[in-house]
Amino acid sequence: MFIDSHCHLNFPELAENLDELLANMRRNEVSHALCVGVNLENFPQIQLLAEQHEQIYASVGVHPDYELDAEPTQKLLVQMAQHPKVIAIGETGLDYFRLKGDLEWQRERFRTHIRAARECRKPLIIHTREAAQDTLRIMAEEGAEQIGGVMHCFTESLEVALAAIEMNFYISFSGIVTFKKATSIKEVARLVPLDRILIETDAPYLAPVPFRGKLNQPAYVKHVAEEIANLRGIPLEELGCATTENFRRLFLGAGR
Ligand SMILES: [Zn+2]
Ligand SMILES: [Zn+2]
Repeated sequence: MFIDSHCHLNFPELAENLDELLANMRRNEVSHALCVGVNLENFPQIQLLAEQHEQIYASVGVHPDYELDAEPTQKLLVQMAQHPKVIAIGETGLDYFRLKGDLEWQRERFRTHIRAARECRKPLIIHTREAAQDTLRIMAEEGAEQIGGVMHCFTESLEVALAAIEMNFYISFSGIVTFKKATSIKEVARLVPLDRILIETDAPYLAPVPFRGKLNQPAYVKHVAEEIANLRGIPLEELGCATTENFRRLFLGAGR
């Protein structure tokens, strides 16, 4: 009924309890989780998780906060994405909150990922923080709309969401949408089209209410779904089905 479209199950605090986390997913009707790459070094672990577990998909990319990590080339990303369970390129994007100074390298790295995604025909997972205008500009300049993808852990304005949707992107909400003070994100989650919404945990970070501050896990994506269903005044089941269908359309090419 639910799919966690973005988590980091390979991070040690989660990987060491994997069996328990997979059991919790079943208990909460979370059928799959997309384990998202943040650097090249850990990609073999993610690939292995995806090979060993039917419920886990993988992506490959180098996160904009990973300043000192090996720089990916377009060729390498495309090559690593050939694995059948690698269903996306990312996470990539821009983050002007964590890192300051001359971030031209971040923008170049972002462009490389968009080019790789277009070449291998796999959608993008985009992380953007305090960099919405540059993110949208580079997406447009590099033709990201030709491949589409998702704006993950969305915390921007409705205007930014609609601009991304216009470019063939989906909007993914994390546990932040359950936080009491996140009024503007709640408003975006209420207003964007249902056929463009994804849900995620970004585990191990950002656990939703009522687990806020604790270690997050994919099973908790159900609480993100509950919040959005409540905001929109629709049954949980309807929200679950729609977001699962959206995931399948975007990442698995179902009904394209
Ligand atoms: Zn991110
Ligand atoms: Zn992430």
